[in-house]
Amino acid sequence: MKAAIFRGPGQLAIEDVERTAPGPGEIAVTVKAAATCGTDLKSYRRGHPKLFPELPARFGHEFAGIVSEVGEGVTKFAVGQRVVAANTAPCGRCWACSLNRESLCENLEFLNGAFAEEVVIPRAIVERNTYRIPDELPFEAAAPLEPLATVVHGMDESGIKLGDTVVVHGAGPIGLMFVRLATLRGAHVVSVDQAPFRLDQALVAGAERTINIAGLDPAQVDEAIREVTPGKRGADVSIEAVGLPVVWEQAVRALRPGGTAVLFGGTPKGAPFSVDSSAMHYEEYTLKGVFHHAPKYVAIAVDLLSSGKVDGMSLISEVRPLGALVESLEDMAAGRGSKYALVP
Ligand SMILES: [Zn+2]
Ligand SMILES: [Zn+2]
Repeated sequence: MKAAIFRGPGQLAIEDVERTAPGPGEIAVTVKAAATCGTDLKSYRRGHPKLFPELPARFGHEFAGIVSEVGEGVTKFAVGQRVVAANTAPCGRCWACSLNRESLCENLEFLNGAFAEEVVIPRAIVERNTYRIPDELPFEAAAPLEPLATVVHGMDESGIKLGDTVVVHGAGPIGLMFVRLATLRGAHVVSVDQAPFRLDQALVAGAERTINIAGLDPAQVDEAIREVTPGKRGADVSIEAVGLPVVWEQAVRALRPGGTAVLFGGTPKGAPFSVDSSAMHYEEYTLKGVFHHAPKYVAIAVDLLSSGKVDGMSLISEVRPLGALVESLEDMAAGRGSKYALVP
Protein backbone atom coordinates (compact mmCIF):
# COMPACT_ATOMS: atom_id res chain seq x y z
CA MET A 1 0.00 0.00 0.00
CA LYS A 2 0.99 3.65 -0.33
CA ALA A 3 2.09 5.53 2.79
CA ALA A 4 3.99 8.72 3.56
CA ILE A 5 7.41 7.95 5.03
CA PHE A 6 9.34 10.60 6.96
CA ARG A 7 13.13 10.20 6.96
CA GLY A 8 14.18 13.52 8.53
CA PRO A 9 13.71 17.27 8.02
CA GLY A 10 12.71 17.92 4.40
CA GLN A 11 12.66 14.22 3.57
CA LEU A 12 9.09 13.08 3.13
CA ALA A 13 7.70 10.95 0.30
CA ILE A 14 4.87 8.59 -0.56
CA GLU A 15 6.35 5.08 -0.74
CA ASP A 16 5.15 1.51 -1.23
CA VAL A 17 5.11 -0.28 2.13
CA GLU A 18 3.87 -3.57 3.56
CA ARG A 19 0.42 -3.46 5.08
CA THR A 20 0.42 -4.11 8.86
CA ALA A 21 -2.30 -6.25 10.39
CA PRO A 22 -3.83 -4.94 13.62
CA GLY A 23 -2.56 -6.58 16.81
CA PRO A 24 -4.68 -7.44 19.87
CA GLY A 25 -6.94 -4.53 20.79
CA GLU A 26 -6.03 -2.61 17.63
CA ILE A 27 -8.07 -1.80 14.53
CA ALA A 28 -7.02 -1.12 10.94
CA VAL A 29 -8.80 1.70 9.15
CA THR A 30 -8.94 2.42 5.41
CA VAL A 31 -8.14 6.12 5.33
CA LYS A 32 -10.76 8.11 3.41
CA ALA A 33 -9.37 11.55 4.26
CA ALA A 34 -6.33 12.79 6.17
CA ALA A 35 -5.80 16.44 7.03
CA THR A 36 -2.53 18.37 7.13
CA CYS A 37 -1.82 20.39 10.24
CA GLY A 38 0.68 22.93 11.53
CA THR A 39 2.43 20.20 13.50
CA ASP A 40 2.99 18.26 10.25
CA LEU A 41 4.57 21.32 8.68
CA LYS A 42 6.79 21.91 11.74
CA SER A 43 7.85 18.25 11.78
CA TYR A 44 8.55 18.21 8.03
CA ARG A 45 10.78 21.27 8.31
CA ARG A 46 12.59 20.75 11.60
CA GLY A 47 11.82 17.22 12.80
CA HIS A 48 9.92 16.62 16.03
CA PRO A 49 11.76 14.60 18.71
CA LYS A 50 8.61 13.93 20.71
CA LEU A 51 6.45 12.77 17.80
CA PHE A 52 9.22 11.09 15.84
CA PRO A 53 11.80 9.68 18.27
CA GLU A 54 12.78 7.09 15.64
CA LEU A 55 13.19 7.47 11.89
CA PRO A 56 12.08 6.53 9.31
CA ALA A 57 8.48 6.84 10.48
CA ARG A 58 4.93 6.94 9.19
CA PHE A 59 3.48 10.45 9.01
CA GLY A 60 0.15 12.22 9.69
CA HIS A 61 -2.35 12.09 12.54
CA GLU A 62 -5.66 13.70 11.51
CA PHE A 63 -7.88 11.29 9.61
CA ALA A 64 -11.21 9.54 9.23
CA GLY A 65 -12.03 6.31 7.46
CA ILE A 66 -13.68 2.89 7.47
CA VAL A 67 -12.71 0.00 9.73
CA SER A 68 -11.04 -2.63 7.51
CA GLU A 69 -9.97 -5.19 10.14
CA VAL A 70 -10.31 -5.55 13.91
CA GLY A 71 -7.64 -7.11 16.11
CA GLU A 72 -8.18 -9.86 18.63
CA GLY A 73 -10.45 -8.91 21.51
CA VAL A 74 -11.94 -5.77 19.92
CA THR A 75 -15.69 -5.63 20.57
CA LYS A 76 -16.35 -1.88 20.30
CA PHE A 77 -15.85 -1.69 16.52
CA ALA A 78 -16.65 -3.82 13.49
CA VAL A 79 -15.47 -3.93 9.87
CA GLY A 80 -17.30 -1.41 7.67
CA GLN A 81 -17.96 1.22 10.34
CA ARG A 82 -17.09 4.84 9.65
CA VAL A 83 -14.76 6.12 12.36
CA VAL A 84 -12.57 8.99 13.46
CA ALA A 85 -9.81 8.88 16.09
CA ALA A 86 -7.70 11.32 18.02
CA ASN A 87 -3.91 11.20 17.64
CA THR A 88 -3.13 10.11 21.21
CA ALA A 89 -4.55 8.52 24.32
CA PRO A 90 -3.42 9.10 27.91
CA CYS A 91 -2.29 6.16 30.04
CA GLY A 92 -4.75 6.72 32.88
CA ARG A 93 -2.15 5.70 35.50
CA CYS A 94 0.57 8.37 35.80
CA TRP A 95 0.56 11.29 38.28
CA ALA A 96 -0.89 13.67 35.65
CA CYS A 97 -3.72 11.31 34.73
CA SER A 98 -4.52 10.73 38.41
CA LEU A 99 -4.82 14.51 38.88
CA ASN A 100 -7.17 14.72 35.89
CA ARG A 101 -4.53 16.53 33.85
CA GLU A 102 -4.50 13.99 31.01
CA SER A 103 -3.08 16.46 28.49
CA LEU A 104 0.12 16.30 30.58
CA CYS A 105 0.20 12.48 30.63
CA GLU A 106 3.77 11.19 30.79
CA ASN A 107 2.99 8.19 28.64
CA LEU A 108 0.83 9.60 25.83
CA GLU A 109 0.51 6.97 23.14
CA PHE A 110 0.90 8.64 19.74
CA LEU A 111 -0.51 7.65 16.39
CA ASN A 112 1.41 8.42 13.19
CA GLY A 113 0.64 7.17 9.72
CA ALA A 114 -2.61 8.82 8.64
CA PHE A 115 -1.17 9.81 5.24
CA ALA A 116 -1.56 6.31 3.89
CA GLU A 117 -4.11 3.99 2.33
CA GLU A 118 -4.54 2.29 5.70
CA VAL A 119 -3.58 3.07 9.30
CA VAL A 120 -3.53 0.90 12.43
CA ILE A 121 -4.95 2.56 15.55
CA PRO A 122 -3.09 1.58 18.75
CA ARG A 123 -5.03 -0.17 21.50
CA ALA A 124 -5.13 2.75 23.98
CA ILE A 125 -6.55 5.05 21.30
CA VAL A 126 -9.09 2.42 20.20
CA GLU A 127 -10.24 2.13 23.80
CA ARG A 128 -10.43 5.80 24.74
CA ASN A 129 -10.32 8.12 21.74
CA THR A 130 -11.94 6.45 18.71
CA TYR A 131 -15.55 7.18 17.69
CA ARG A 132 -18.09 6.20 15.06
CA ILE A 133 -19.30 9.07 12.89
CA PRO A 134 -22.67 9.55 11.17
CA ASP A 135 -23.12 8.49 7.52
CA GLU A 136 -23.89 12.04 6.44
CA LEU A 137 -20.65 13.51 7.85
CA PRO A 138 -18.01 13.73 5.09
CA PHE A 139 -14.69 12.11 6.03
CA GLU A 140 -12.88 15.36 5.16
CA ALA A 141 -15.04 17.22 7.69
CA ALA A 142 -14.36 14.68 10.45
CA ALA A 143 -10.59 14.50 9.94
CA PRO A 144 -9.66 17.68 11.91
CA LEU A 145 -10.83 16.10 15.18
CA GLU A 146 -7.53 16.47 17.03
CA PRO A 147 -7.12 20.26 16.64
CA LEU A 148 -10.80 20.80 17.47
CA ALA A 149 -10.39 18.74 20.66
CA THR A 150 -7.45 20.92 21.70
CA VAL A 151 -9.54 24.03 21.06
CA VAL A 152 -12.38 22.58 23.16
CA HIS A 153 -9.76 22.21 25.90
CA GLY A 154 -8.77 25.87 25.43
CA MET A 155 -12.42 26.91 25.62
CA ASP A 156 -12.81 25.02 28.89
CA GLU A 157 -9.83 26.88 30.36
CA SER A 158 -10.91 30.26 28.97
CA GLY A 159 -13.97 30.74 31.17
CA ILE A 160 -15.68 32.59 28.28
CA LYS A 161 -19.20 33.67 29.28
CA LEU A 162 -22.33 34.86 27.47
CA GLY A 163 -21.78 38.47 26.37
CA ASP A 164 -18.00 38.50 26.83
CA THR A 165 -15.77 40.29 24.36
CA VAL A 166 -13.23 37.78 23.09
CA VAL A 167 -10.26 38.71 20.92
CA VAL A 168 -8.75 35.84 18.92
CA HIS A 169 -5.24 36.54 17.64
CA GLY A 170 -4.67 34.55 14.45
CA ALA A 171 -7.28 33.23 12.01
CA GLY A 172 -5.68 29.98 10.84
CA PRO A 173 -7.61 26.74 11.50
CA ILE A 174 -7.07 26.98 15.28
CA GLY A 175 -8.10 30.64 15.45
CA LEU A 176 -11.18 29.93 13.32
CA MET A 177 -12.23 27.12 15.65
CA PHE A 178 -11.89 29.45 18.65
CA VAL A 179 -13.96 32.07 16.81
CA ARG A 180 -16.65 29.50 16.12
CA LEU A 181 -16.78 28.03 19.64
CA ALA A 182 -16.64 31.42 21.39
CA THR A 183 -19.52 32.54 19.15
CA LEU A 184 -21.48 29.40 20.09
CA ARG A 185 -20.92 30.33 23.73
CA GLY A 186 -22.50 33.74 23.17
CA ALA A 187 -19.44 35.96 23.08
CA HIS A 188 -18.77 38.97 20.87
CA VAL A 189 -15.73 37.84 18.92
CA VAL A 190 -13.04 39.98 17.34
CA SER A 191 -10.62 38.25 14.96
CA VAL A 192 -7.13 39.70 14.43
CA ASP A 193 -4.88 38.61 11.56
CA GLN A 194 -2.78 39.93 8.67
CA ALA A 195 -4.37 38.08 5.75
CA PRO A 196 -7.66 39.29 4.25
CA PHE A 197 -8.71 35.76 3.14
CA ARG A 198 -8.31 34.45 6.69
CA LEU A 199 -10.25 37.38 8.16
CA ASP A 200 -13.06 36.66 5.69
CA GLN A 201 -13.14 33.08 6.97
CA ALA A 202 -13.34 34.44 10.54
CA LEU A 203 -16.47 36.40 9.60
CA VAL A 204 -18.03 33.20 8.26
CA ALA A 205 -17.08 31.44 11.52
CA GLY A 206 -18.98 34.08 13.48
CA ALA A 207 -16.61 36.97 14.24
CA GLU A 208 -18.47 40.27 14.67
CA ARG A 209 -15.42 42.29 13.78
CA THR A 210 -12.08 41.72 12.16
CA ILE A 211 -8.91 43.75 12.44
CA ASN A 212 -6.22 43.53 9.78
CA ILE A 213 -2.97 44.38 11.56
CA ALA A 214 -0.71 44.12 8.50
CA GLY A 215 1.80 46.98 8.60
CA LEU A 216 0.80 48.23 12.08
CA ASP A 217 3.37 48.61 14.87
CA PRO A 218 2.59 47.04 18.29
CA ALA A 219 1.21 50.26 19.77
CA GLN A 220 -1.12 50.69 16.80
CA VAL A 221 -2.24 47.07 17.09
CA ASP A 222 -3.03 47.55 20.79
CA GLU A 223 -5.02 50.69 20.06
CA ALA A 224 -6.95 49.11 17.19
CA ILE A 225 -7.96 46.21 19.42
CA ARG A 226 -8.86 48.35 22.44
CA GLU A 227 -10.96 50.61 20.23
CA VAL A 228 -13.50 47.80 19.62
CA THR A 229 -13.81 46.60 23.23
CA PRO A 230 -16.40 47.87 25.78
CA GLY A 231 -15.22 51.17 27.30
CA LYS A 232 -11.97 50.64 25.35
CA ARG A 233 -10.82 48.67 28.39
CA GLY A 234 -9.67 45.58 26.49
CA ALA A 235 -10.80 41.99 26.05
CA ASP A 236 -12.47 39.88 28.70
CA VAL A 237 -10.65 36.94 27.15
CA SER A 238 -7.75 37.14 24.71
CA ILE A 239 -6.66 34.03 22.81
CA GLU A 240 -3.29 33.49 21.14
CA ALA A 241 -3.66 31.15 18.17
CA VAL A 242 -0.47 31.83 16.20
CA GLY A 243 2.43 30.41 18.19
CA LEU A 244 4.79 33.40 18.17
CA PRO A 245 6.11 35.04 21.36
CA VAL A 246 5.34 38.53 19.97
CA VAL A 247 1.72 37.48 19.55
CA TRP A 248 1.65 36.01 23.07
CA GLU A 249 2.70 39.47 24.26
CA GLN A 250 0.08 41.12 22.07
CA ALA A 251 -2.59 38.81 23.52
CA VAL A 252 -1.72 39.80 27.10
CA ARG A 253 -1.62 43.52 26.26
CA ALA A 254 -5.14 43.21 24.78
CA LEU A 255 -6.67 42.29 28.18
CA ARG A 256 -8.96 44.43 30.28
CA PRO A 257 -8.16 44.55 34.00
CA GLY A 258 -9.05 41.14 35.43
CA GLY A 259 -9.03 39.52 31.99
CA THR A 260 -7.83 36.05 31.03
CA ALA A 261 -5.34 35.23 28.27
CA VAL A 262 -5.30 31.74 26.76
CA LEU A 263 -1.80 31.23 25.36
CA PHE A 264 -2.42 28.42 22.95
CA GLY A 265 -0.03 28.49 19.99
CA GLY A 266 3.10 26.36 20.45
CA THR A 267 6.37 28.31 20.31
CA PRO A 268 9.97 27.11 19.76
CA LYS A 269 11.67 25.61 22.81
CA GLY A 270 13.38 28.20 25.01
CA ALA A 271 11.62 31.19 23.41
CA PRO A 272 10.85 33.73 26.15
CA PHE A 273 7.98 36.21 26.15
CA SER A 274 7.57 39.20 28.40
CA VAL A 275 4.71 40.70 30.33
CA ASP A 276 4.53 44.05 32.10
CA SER A 277 4.83 42.79 35.69
CA SER A 278 3.18 45.91 37.05
CA ALA A 279 0.15 45.41 34.81
CA MET A 280 0.10 41.72 35.73
CA HIS A 281 -0.11 42.74 39.41
CA TYR A 282 -2.34 45.83 39.42
CA GLU A 283 -4.66 44.58 36.70
CA GLU A 284 -4.87 41.02 38.00
CA TYR A 285 -4.43 39.20 34.74
CA THR A 286 -4.87 35.47 34.49
CA LEU A 287 -2.53 33.81 31.98
CA LYS A 288 -3.17 30.22 30.97
CA GLY A 289 -0.99 27.93 28.91
CA VAL A 290 -3.02 25.26 27.13
CA PHE A 291 -1.64 22.18 25.42
CA HIS A 292 -3.24 19.19 23.72
CA HIS A 293 -6.50 17.52 24.70
CA ALA A 294 -8.04 14.85 26.93
CA PRO A 295 -10.69 12.18 26.24
CA LYS A 296 -13.53 14.34 27.57
CA TYR A 297 -12.61 17.09 25.07
CA VAL A 298 -12.32 14.61 22.20
CA ALA A 299 -15.86 13.40 22.96
CA ILE A 300 -17.19 16.97 22.80
CA ALA A 301 -15.28 17.64 19.57
CA VAL A 302 -16.78 14.52 17.93
CA ASP A 303 -20.24 15.76 18.92
CA LEU A 304 -19.57 19.25 17.52
CA LEU A 305 -18.44 17.81 14.16
CA SER A 306 -21.16 15.15 13.98
CA SER A 307 -23.95 17.61 14.78
CA GLY A 308 -22.62 20.19 12.33
CA LYS A 309 -22.23 22.84 15.05
CA VAL A 310 -18.69 23.07 13.77
CA ASP A 311 -18.44 22.61 10.00
CA GLY A 312 -15.20 20.70 9.55
CA MET A 313 -15.31 21.37 5.79
CA SER A 314 -14.99 25.10 6.43
CA LEU A 315 -11.50 24.47 7.84
CA ILE A 316 -10.30 22.71 4.68
CA SER A 317 -8.64 24.91 2.05
CA GLU A 318 -8.82 22.21 -0.65
CA VAL A 319 -9.29 18.45 -1.09
CA ARG A 320 -6.35 16.85 -2.93
CA PRO A 321 -4.99 13.38 -3.72
CA LEU A 322 -2.57 11.81 -1.22
CA GLY A 323 0.30 12.29 -3.67
CA ALA A 324 0.02 16.07 -3.16
CA LEU A 325 1.19 15.83 0.47
CA VAL A 326 4.55 17.57 0.15
CA GLU A 327 3.17 20.18 -2.22
CA SER A 328 0.38 20.87 0.28
CA LEU A 329 2.84 21.36 3.15
CA GLU A 330 4.80 23.76 0.92
CA ASP A 331 1.59 25.64 0.12
CA MET A 332 0.89 25.95 3.86
CA ALA A 333 4.42 27.26 4.42
CA ALA A 334 3.85 29.86 1.70
CA GLY A 335 0.51 30.88 3.25
CA ARG A 336 -1.50 29.79 0.21
CA GLY A 337 -3.76 27.53 2.25
CA SER A 338 -4.03 26.54 5.88
CA LYS A 339 -5.31 22.96 5.91
CA TYR A 340 -5.58 20.40 3.11
CA ALA A 341 -7.58 17.18 3.12
CA LEU A 342 -5.70 14.45 1.30
CA VAL A 343 -7.59 11.52 -0.15
CA PRO A 344 -5.69 8.25 -0.82
ZN1 LIG B 1 -2.83 18.06 14.11
ZN1 LIG C 1 -0.87 9.26 32.10
